Amino acid sequence: MKTIVWDVDDVLNSLTRTWLETQPDCALTFAGLTENPPHRLLGISREAYLRSLDEFRLSRFAALEPAVPVRRWFEAHGHQFRHVALTATPLETAPLSAAWVMRHFGRWIRTFAVAPSPRPDDPGPVIDPSKAGYLRWWGRADVLIDDNPAHVSAARTLGITGLLAAQPWNRGIAIEQILAGLNGE
Ligand SMILES: [Mg+2]
Repeated sequence: MKTIVWDVDDVLNSLTRTWLETQPDCALTFAGLTENPPHRLLGISREAYLRSLDEFRLSRFAALEPAVPVRRWFEAHGHQFRHVALTATPLETAPLSAAWVMRHFGRWIRTFAVAPSPRPDDPGPVIDPSKAGYLRWWGRADVLIDDNPAHVSAARTLGITGLLAAQPWNRGIAIEQILAGLNGE
């Protein structure tokens, strides 16, 4: 049975789209988010962007809806694979992410892992500073589905099938197409 490692933000949920919708007076559309992090497009500093996103996570993460095609795929095919969630969220917001994953996908995803994303007041871990570090240590992933090209590329160098889930900031494959191509045999 193959093991799929799922990114959480912008794969299992629509964090960035929902965050953008809450930004007052923002002229940028979601389709216009051709970079991630998008602070340059927004005309703000990287620090201000991350602060805004983290505040959104702390106040609104629990209310995020699961991505509909992904949730439907789990209901039909989830039992054909083993599943792990692997997120690069800050340690401060990781408990919210873990609870969200277990609430919406806990029937299938039994393991939640975090490669902490450093912040100025939380400089990050000594071990597993990246998703690739975690995946290399763990050694059991067959597939990684992620919207971050760097994580997908790093997984491929480890011999893992890296599937880049399409978002405006990457040249990925539509999630519906990725899901249709997953073979549980
Ligand atoms: Mg992501």
